[in-house]
Parts: sequence; structure tokens; C-alpha cells
Amino acid sequence: MAAKTQAKTRVFSDVDYERKGKQATVLRVPQSRNDSGWGVVQIPITVLKNGKGPTVLLTGGVHGDEYESQIAISELARTLEPSSVQGRLIIIPALHYPAAVNGTRLSPIDNKDLNRCFPGRPEGTFADVLAHYVTEILLPITDVNLDLHSGGRAMEFVPSTTAHVLDDRAKMAETEALALAFGAPYHVVIKEVDAGYTFMTTCERRGVTAISSELGGGNRVSIPGLASTRRGIMNALKHLGVIRGKLDKSGPKTRVVTVPDYGCYAFAPQAGLFEAYHPLGAKVRKGEAAGALHFIDDPHRKPIIIDYGYSGELWCTRGQGQVSAGDPVAVLVAVR
Ligand SMILES: [Zn+2]
Repeated sequence: MAAKTQAKTRVFSDVDYERKGKQATVLRVPQSRNDSGWGVVQIPITVLKNGKGPTVLLTGGVHGDEYESQIAISELARTLEPSSVQGRLIIIPALHYPAAVNGTRLSPIDNKDLNRCFPGRPEGTFADVLAHYVTEILLPITDVNLDLHSGGRAMEFVPSTTAHVLDDRAKMAETEALALAFGAPYHVVIKEVDAGYTFMTTCERRGVTAISSELGGGNRVSIPGLASTRRGIMNALKHLGVIRGKLDKSGPKTRVVTVPDYGCYAFAPQAGLFEAYHPLGAKVRKGEAAGALHFIDDPHRKPIIIDYGYSGELWCTRGQGQVSAGDPVAVLVAVR
């Protein structure tokens, strides 16, 4: 396996994806530095393989400031034994490891968003090389990818699974069944801003069934978000037959919602401090005030009122007070 891997990627590892049992090791991504020319960044990876079943790639920490998935996926890596798995489980709790260590969305190495670097390229910078490994080495052996996100510093969400609108109806039904098994309060079928270079889009182009998520945020570990992540991962694995057992239905019933157009996004026209007027999940109407943008550099200036451009439910709001011009401050969903 090693020789084939080296021909296709600059990432190397002693992991053998065909070996039965449990392996806990690292992916080594070259990172030449002033003080270490042959230095690598070591990304923890755990692989469990047993019996017959699908291969599920479970990833967290694509954005380093999204913590719920990193915690829940690490727990799984630590506690799962091969005897309880049917198929193959590839577990990477903090895929964009330098960003996770830094607690930031982007990596401190090349200042890139891994989730805008797919399908990746071997001659690029760190995030490009890493994305390329996932695309060329992991996705060809993967049936299903759960790449779990939350709102990070920037946003705070009603805990949700997410998927794109797909042309392939059968694949879309399969994806939705997986999301319903996961069991977050919302399953959001989304028209995403700038989705062309994301992990999920690359999965779709490669025929890999994929769901993602927004399970909390606000630069902290969300209690409902983490509960939903823990329950959801196990439910999804049970639905896929990788783990035996009944689905945990103790969470709220999942509602399938959509982000039908860009009118669902409300953006800040200028920099300021954003005061949201509604809690997450609130029912709001088009033209209604979403919140106020305050200007601390001029206390005499009236706040700008930002309106909703759509009637629906408030899926996410700003995760911190400060906004820059062009930042989304609210995203609405329509109940399907
Ligand atoms: Zn994210």
C-alpha cells in the first residue's frame, strides 16, 4: 500500500487501510520549516476494520474552532473496539490539525480554509496537500463520509445535519435517510455560498454519500450541540450497519428544512457590533428587523437595522458581537 500511496500523495503513514483490527497512528504531512527541513505535521488517525460492511470516513476539526465534533470523534477513536464494528471505520478527529491546535478556522501555516481547498493539489501549500490526500487516497475507499462541523467563532446554529441538493434523486434519498437517522433537530438541504471547493462537493463528485453538520458554535462547546453530535454519530453508524443496535430516538424529531436561495442570508453592510433581535429557531418574516449594527467609534450615530430577506426560522446567528462588512449575521431556513 505504501508504494502506491507515495506515488499519489506527499502524505505518508504506516497506516494500512486493509489490515483487520484497530490501528491508532498518524498521517505525516511534510512541513519544511527553518528549524526542521524534514519536519512533518502529525495528524492522529484511527482505523477499525472487522467483518463485512461499508467504509465510513468520520472527520472532525476541518475548521479548528469547531469543537463538538473533535470531542465526540476522539471519544469514539478511544473507546470503539474492532469486535463492535462491521466494515471499516476511518476516524480523524481533527483533520486540519494545525488549525485545531490553534483553535482557529484557518490554519496558521498557510492561512487557508481546508474546506475551500478541495479536491486539493500535491504541489500546493499544507491545506492543499492534505485535501489532496483525502481526495486521492481516502475517498476511493470510502462509501460514506460524515464530516462534522459547527459554527465556530463566526456563527451559532440550531444543531443540524446538512446536505446539498443533488441531481441524483436516489443518492439524495439515501443521504436524507442517513441524516434522519443521525437525528439532529434540523436537517438542512442547503444552497451553500461558494460550495465548489468543499469536502462535501468533492465527495458528491466522487460518488461518496456525504452529510455534514452545524452542531453548535459560538466559539464554545455547545451542550445541545455535543449531545446531538454524540447521539448522531452512533445513530448514523447503526443506520449504516457498521455498529449493531437500536437508534437512540431520545432527541427531538428531525425536521427537514431548506435554504432555498441567497435571500435566506442576511449580511452586515458595514463593520460594527451586531445585536441579534431573535433567539435561534425563532419564526421570523421577510422585512422584519433581524438586529441592529452598532458603531462604537461614533456613539451619536444611529444603529443600522438589518432586515430579514426571507420568511422562515432562524437557523443561525452571529457567534460573536463583532462583524466585518459582508459577514452573515443571520441565516434562515424554510420548513419543507
Ligand atoms: Zn466548519
